[in-house]
Formats: sequence, structure tokens, C-alpha cells
Amino acid sequence: MGMGGGGVLFNAGGGGSRKLAWIKWSNILASLDKGGLGVGSLKAFNNSLLLKWRWRLLNKPSALWVEVLKSIHGNEAGIELKGCQTNGLWARIVGTIYHLHSSGYVPLNSLRYQVGDGSMIRFWKDTWLGDAPLCSRFNRLFRLEKNQNCLVRDRIVNGLWAWDWRRPVNGGRALADLNNLLMDIGSLNVEVDRDCVVSSLSTDGSYSVSFIRKHIDNCMIANSLPSTRWCKIIPRKVNIFMWRLLLDRLPHRLNLSSRGLDIDSILCPVCSEHVESNSHAFFSCSAASNIWRLVHGWCDLKIPTLSSCDEWDIWYTSWKASKVEKDRAYVIYAATCWMLWHFRNNHIFNSQDMRKCEVFDNIQCFSFSWLKSRGKKCISWTDWLKSSL
Ligand SMILES: [Zn+2]
Repeated sequence: MGMGGGGVLFNAGGGGSRKLAWIKWSNILASLDKGGLGVGSLKAFNNSLLLKWRWRLLNKPSALWVEVLKSIHGNEAGIELKGCQTNGLWARIVGTIYHLHSSGYVPLNSLRYQVGDGSMIRFWKDTWLGDAPLCSRFNRLFRLEKNQNCLVRDRIVNGLWAWDWRRPVNGGRALADLNNLLMDIGSLNVEVDRDCVVSSLSTDGSYSVSFIRKHIDNCMIANSLPSTRWCKIIPRKVNIFMWRLLLDRLPHRLNLSSRGLDIDSILCPVCSEHVESNSHAFFSCSAASNIWRLVHGWCDLKIPTLSSCDEWDIWYTSWKASKVEKDRAYVIYAATCWMLWHFRNNHIFNSQDMRKCEVFDNIQCFSFSWLKSRGKKCISWTDWLKSSL
């Protein structure tokens, strides 16, 4: 969604100089389960791309660019406790990686080695067992190690663990440590596969930019909204409309006036009897309730009289029905709200009014075409008209 599209969608009064922000930008960026629209922030996207450099670096230690980085920034390529000592692009990448680590969003140990043949992983210095490298957990043994950069493979000879100590480990705390270490690594099976790096933040261990981006956004964007209901059967614009409806962010007259817009009347443009609020326009207005009666009759559903979309949501959540029935009911609900809004706008902006039976026909047509093009189960038009659920 471009910025232009965002402006049209989320601001009111396109022609006037004054623009109203209808929805907090962070609510649009937040993921669906955090009540947003899952647009995702550019910042998280950028961070996720930068983090991928560490993933590449760990996965391809023999690549030329990794060799170059290590020759400039040392064996850890600057990704160690001291950070990167020079200025420049790589230093900024390392800085971002550290910032995400220290803020707890993407800890360094979320990327960890999975042992294959042990040819890529350093036994002491890389994190491959537990959450920290073995050199920090078994510091005493590490100091006794002759080759502190040794690989996992170097410590295995003919399927057995083989050590190379500066002096024999035959008693005291060092021996106790060694026993603990052996317990930890005892169950390890060294395999023929190559070593690789897995991300504990994703379900399959791979590094997905979009997944990490969503993860960072979920950490950074605090949101107390209920999760967004996103139905794959209805078009995107209708999903967004339903999201705005549930959050009460549609430009009906009460909302316009409460945002300081000078309008002639806040009465419902259809019946001119009550204030036009969300619940009035979509539920209690006589025009709306007539349409709901037709819709409920068609669905053959005994639904109590509902007076707001929150009430509808509560009813829908507790309604026991099959997945197909629930999907269809939601599609019909969305089509009804969508058409009621069109009916209302038509009434205000077009001289020719839509008739109620026309609104109902449109609900049947739209819901059918959405289900037909995106739904999994097919239904014929005649069956649809007879019984929708
Ligand atoms: Zn009304």
C-alpha cells in the first residue's frame, strides 16, 4: 500500500485542506493478531534485512566476503562483545544487530548452530549447545584447552571425544566440569550433513525476512487491540472496511463531529430521527434493521436482536457451527455491512435512492461472488438463494 493509498483510506475529507487521522499509524503497521492491518514498518523490514547479514556470515564462513570482513574486523567479524571498532557500513550493521540484541527483540543466541559434521562450528567459541558458547559455561576447561579455536570435528576421533589439554585433567573442579561437559555433549550424534545455522525465532529454523520483520514489529509496536479478523474470502478493501467498522473509525456523522468537523447535522441521513453513530447506522436504524430481518430470514438463523458490531462479534464467537457455515455467515455479515454503508452514502451523495430490496439483492450477489471466486466449497446460485448457510 503506497502512501497515497494510505492517505485516501485512512484520512477523511480528501478535498479539503484539513485531514483527519482516523487511525493511529502504528495500528495500521501492527500485525493482524495485534489488531492491526499487518502492513509492517519499514524500520522492522530494514532491521530484518540487516540481521540477515549475520545469518549469511554464520552460514557461509568460507565465503570470500566473510574472509574479507574477518581480516578487517577480526575473527568474529566485529560481532562480539566489544562490537565493531571501525566506522562504516559494517559497523552500522553490527550496531543494529547489537541494538536488537540488547533490547531483547532478537537476541544473539536466537541464531545457533546445528551440528552436522562439525566442520564449521568452533567447539568452544560458537553457540551450538545450550544458550551460550561452551567457553563461557566451562571457563576452567577452556583455559586448559591447547587449541581454543578448535572445531567440533577436531574433538572427535573415531566417534569418541578426544581432548588436547595443556596439562592432564585428572582431579578437582576441572574433572567435575569435564564430567558435566561430557553429560551435555554425550547425546550428540555427529552426522554426515553439513553444519548449519538455525533461527529459534522461526518454526522451521530458517531465516525468513518477513517473519523476523513481523517479530520485530510485534516487539516494537505496543498494541492493546483485539486481533484483527481477516477473512480470506472477502476482498481486501472489505476486510479493511470491516476492521474500521469494528474499531468505530468510519466517517459517520457522530465521528465527523467528534473530530471537530463542522457539519450541519449529526442526525442519521437515512431516518433523520437519531444521532448517526456506528451502532445506529449499521444496526438500530429502521432501514438497517429491516435489511437485517431479510438477511436473517434468508440465512434461516435465529439471531437475537443485536445493536452493535461488538454484540455481533460476541454472538458470532459463541455461535457453534461448522467452519463452512461460520465462513459463510461472516461473508454475509460483511456484505450486509458493506451494502448498508453504500446505501447510506448513496442516500447522501446521490439523488437517486437505493431501494431496500435492491440492497438485499446486492448482499446476495456480492456474498455469492466473493464465495465463488475465493471460497473453497462451491455452491450454485439457485441453492445460494434458497439457503445460504
Ligand atoms: Zn437512521
